[in-house]
Amino acid sequence: MLLMKPACEACKQSLSHTDEAYICSYECTFCNACNARMQAVCPNCGGKLVLRPTRESSPVAVAIRQAARAPLLVQIMAILRRR
Ligand SMILES: [Zn+2]
Ligand SMILES: [Zn+2]
Repeated sequence: MLLMKPACEACKQSLSHTDEAYICSYECTFCNACNARMQAVCPNCGGKLVLRPTRESSPVAVAIRQAARAPLLVQIMAILRRR
């Protein structure tokens, strides 16, 4: 699961789960302004900074929905195997 850091590592501006934020593959996290200043390159690892996906649900809600969807996936796999 992606670590959703609560603030920009450069300017300490707080970033909610639905705010625009930029991350590298190590989850170093920066706000929009700092990302622009760094030209989308992480100052910690040199990796590319990309737009972080927003998080709209709690992990528990996601787990419940995944579980609810599992039987359907099993059905689809069974149909695919029949071909
Ligand atoms: Zn910042
Ligand atoms: Zn980094």
